[in-house]
Amino acid sequence: MPSRLDAVVVGSGPNGLAAAVELARNGASVLVIEAAETIGGGTRTAELTLPGYHHDVCSAAHPLGILSPYLSTLPLAEHGLSWVQPPASVAHPLDGAPAVVLRKSMDATAGSLGPDAAAYRRLVGPLLHHPDNLIAEVLGPAHLPRHPLLLARFGAPALIPATVLGHTWFRGERARALLAGCAAHSILPLTRPVSAAVALLFLVTGHVETWPVAKGGSASISSALARYLLSLGGTIETGKPIHALADLPPSRIVLFDTSPDQVATIASPVLPTRYIRRLGRYRYGPGIFKIDWALDGPIPWTDPACLGSATVHVGGTLDEIAAAEAAVWRGEHAERPFTIVVQPSLFDSSRAPEGKHTGWAYCHVPGGSTLDRTDVIERQVERFAPGFRDRILARHVMNTADLEQYNPNYVGGAITGGVTDLGQLFTRPVARADPYSTPNPDIFICSASTPPGGGVHGMCGYHAARSALRRLARVAV
Ligand SMILES: Cc1cc2nc3c(=O)[nH]c(=O)nc-3n(C[C@H](O)[C@H](O)[C@H](O)COP(=O)(O)OP(=O)(O)OC[C@H]3O[C@@H](n4cnc5c(N)ncnc54)[C@H](O)[C@@H]3O)c2cc1C
Repeated sequence: MPSRLDAVVVGSGPNGLAAAVELARNGASVLVIEAAETIGGGTRTAELTLPGYHHDVCSAAHPLGILSPYLSTLPLAEHGLSWVQPPASVAHPLDGAPAVVLRKSMDATAGSLGPDAAAYRRLVGPLLHHPDNLIAEVLGPAHLPRHPLLLARFGAPALIPATVLGHTWFRGERARALLAGCAAHSILPLTRPVSAAVALLFLVTGHVETWPVAKGGSASISSALARYLLSLGGTIETGKPIHALADLPPSRIVLFDTSPDQVATIASPVLPTRYIRRLGRYRYGPGIFKIDWALDGPIPWTDPACLGSATVHVGGTLDEIAAAEAAVWRGEHAERPFTIVVQPSLFDSSRAPEGKHTGWAYCHVPGGSTLDRTDVIERQVERFAPGFRDRILARHVMNTADLEQYNPNYVGGAITGGVTDLGQLFTRPVARADPYSTPNPDIFICSASTPPGGGVHGMCGYHAARSALRRLARVAV
């Protein structure tokens, strides 16, 4: 290791590792320092329940991973990453009706939406002409668009709240429910702008690539990034929580794959008070309650289409999902919460012993909640999969406090780096022309608390590294 590194990255989540890779690819000497004993942040896999059951502790389904404009340029397959794509991306069960299914085929998806087949084509079809351009436009900081017409076509419906778009654009509950389930990934009230943008983005991704799980578990995403980084000469140290700048080895610049709170604390001696105050005003939003199950068999969904989908959106109609999400934003716990369910073992046999399965689910809860939501989540699954509870061999649960203890980036249990509403979409963590930079030219932020926000795509890390490389060029590496 050189006596003075070019860059130290604090944190080894997908953004920290992507930032380190981009720096190393451009000739910088880089060290990643991780607090936990294992790398990966939100992409770890562990035997949480019983021996032989490998659970994705955080991320499980990766539409933005497989389509990431940055990760897709890296030779991650050579370093052990292999995506497994189920037959469909989303199944959305409804009471007394077949599940709505988001398939790669527009015909198959629209065809299952009854009276809204044509309306769905009109809404999503035009965005599929150059989906890669659209994804690249939205997965970055605010900029002059390279494809303004495409962006305008996306932005017009996307800026309408999901509830309004659902009720005005569609006539039937099936298309509305599909939209609402995808919108709820925003962790926003569905009555707010941007919620529909997230829905449209996820619908587009489902028509481009079926949402994959990572073979062997999400940990193989971070381990592939780490192996590639090591091959480029980068280094990684684990089990070293950083509490102060003095804990860091000498380097020209530091990138924080951490929450804004931690940047404010750790780098306070070298950041202006006014900037630290602004970091303190950052909003993290609701948290989640997460369950992992070891199962005696697949979840017995009434509609078997759910067994062929990467993700099952459990929450019923648009109005029901909107009500559940609104309750969370009022600081209440929904009695019938919108719940996202993934069963990676259906598509990747390495996740569980032969004939057995893993199950992964979470619902949104008010930030800081410590209420046990096991019963309401399992009742929601039972609603569409009677007999489900009989298949549970063991479970592991995490409330918001457990999540924050597991990873200090999950402030109050918030899993996507903070609220992604209009106020923080492009101006996270504070409004600056270059949001990855700070007033100190040697300090950068590369976590999901920068644009474009949460998800395993590495784009925050990539853009932060580009910003940092400009700085390194000025100080002559
Ligand atoms: C339960 C759950 C489910 C999710 N599901 C999905 C999903 O299905 N698909 C998807 O795309 N995304 C999902 N996400 C979101 C995704 O995991 C995150 O958006 C993503 O991991 C953010 O990456 P990051 O690099 O910004 O930060 P993180 O992944 O949070 O990594 C930050 C790293 O920094 C380390 N660190 C923090 N502070 C310090 C310190 N002071 N010193 C040293 N190290 C430190 C942490 O230990 C951690 O390893 C989920 C998240 C959770 C929690």
